Amino acid sequence: MIQLDKKQTCTGCHACAAKCPKQCIKMISDTEGFWYPQIDEEECINCGLCERVCPIITPIKFEDPFSPMAYACYNRDEKVRLASSSGGIFTLIAEAVLKQGGVVFGAGFDEDFNVCHQCVERVEDLDKLRMSKYVQSKIGETYREAENFLKENRLVLFTGTPCQIGGLKAYLGKSYDNLITQDIICHGVPSPMVWEDYLAFRKKSDGGCAARKIAFRRKDFGWKRFSVSISYGNDTEYRQDLTQDSFMKGFLKDIYLRPSCHACAFKNAKRHSDITLADFWGIENILPEMFDDKGTSLVLIQSNKGKALFKSIEKKLICQRVDLDEALKYNPAAIRPAPIPKNREVFYSRFGKEPFDKIIHDLTKPSFKTRAKTVAVKALDRLNIKEQIKKTLKK
Ligand SMILES: Cc1cc2nc3c(=O)[nH]c(=O)nc-3n(C[C@H](O)[C@H](O)[C@H](O)COP(=O)(O)OP(=O)(O)OC[C@H]3O[C@@H](n4cnc5c(N)ncnc54)[C@H](O)[C@@H]3O)c2cc1C
Ligand code: SF4
Ligand code: SF4
Ligand code: SF4
Repeated sequence: MIQLDKKQTCTGCHACAAKCPKQCIKMISDTEGFWYPQIDEEECINCGLCERVCPIITPIKFEDPFSPMAYACYNRDEKVRLASSSGGIFTLIAEAVLKQGGVVFGAGFDEDFNVCHQCVERVEDLDKLRMSKYVQSKIGETYREAENFLKENRLVLFTGTPCQIGGLKAYLGKSYDNLITQDIICHGVPSPMVWEDYLAFRKKSDGGCAARKIAFRRKDFGWKRFSVSISYGNDTEYRQDLTQDSFMKGFLKDIYLRPSCHACAFKNAKRHSDITLADFWGIENILPEMFDDKGTSLVLIQSNKGKALFKSIEKKLICQRVDLDEALKYNPAAIRPAPIPKNREVFYSRFGKEPFDKIIHDLTKPSFKTRAKTVAVKALDRLNIKEQIKKTLKK
């Protein structure tokens, strides 16, 4: 029976709960808002299956000794590209699978804008899974659903964070030719409870109407300067830059990531997936001709299966092979977990008691030293400009 000695050793992947033959494991949210297994000991028969399928307790082996190959690319369809987080590659992979009669699993919103894994069987429904949601997605019953499709010989594309792909593989316990997996370079996942609190705060501040559509990565001001958008039922919209929106500010400062993200066991260029997707940060330095601020993806091909699928969508891409180490230089989240920030504990001691915006404002405002430095740099800049003018006038 699973015994968690440290929260960092559980990713909340749901594999143990999905596998338990007595169904006596429930995934329960803790006070920070993250799910952990809770076992009904009365029902447990001590079969040990939960420990054997936990990818942290029993690490899974790589299925394919393939060395990852890196590409910079984006979708030729500009509409899809602009509606996606980076280059719109997920949509092309998913369409290729659906066109072969397959099914696609990924993270979408439910009717209350909680993030949860779901299955899509039609191209016109892919919009539900498109675009990053910066909240931990609940796996729920989707490992079992995917297994049923696999047993029916349907082609299955399962997408998610590296730990969710690890959980799926551990749950399945065997490889399937008809399974394709796609993960992301994952910085970490914020707490669903914090997301819920933020949404309630926004609703109250924005007039009390229910949200109709939410996007974390609108590209109207560019891919790099993306914005969060919440469209409300009364046709109003909240829109804020990533550096100003309080939820994004807290996320980017790692204040409410899942504890396992700070000790992530899945950080590696080599993954358990067939394809890894990411933003190609630093593309303007590596291949300036691939940078137009509309979104460029970094794609890592992880297996022969991934290579074949990628080849099948090649004509729909603008694409260039790149050196793997060079590509990862600008994306440290691929290989290194984020350290636990000092103010994480302070955040949770105030969370739920004070308005969300106020806590984040206090915890992310620049220190006195940083503010003093900014003022000094600006003053020096002004002096320098004066010197330049004097020199020019003397000439
Ligand atoms: C929590 C999170 C952290 C990330 N951190 C980084 C990072 O540090 N560096 C980096 O380069 N890229 C990161 N990404 C990946 C990046 O944001 C894009 O998702 C990726 O580049 C794919 O973009 P796309 O344009 O091809 O497809 P899109 O259509 O934008 O992506 C959709 C895909 O993302 C999946 N997805 C969306 N939200 C979630 C979620 N909450 N959990 C699991 N899967 C999800 C969907 O299932 C689908 O497979 C992160 C994504 C998420 C969700
Ligand atoms: S030991 Fe077996 S019965 Fe008990 S919780 Fe684990 S999987 Fe379920
Ligand atoms: S990591 Fe996954 S399988 Fe392991 S205990 Fe946590 S939820 Fe269960
Ligand atoms: S950082 Fe690691 S543990 Fe956290 S969600 Fe991503 S893959 Fe899972």
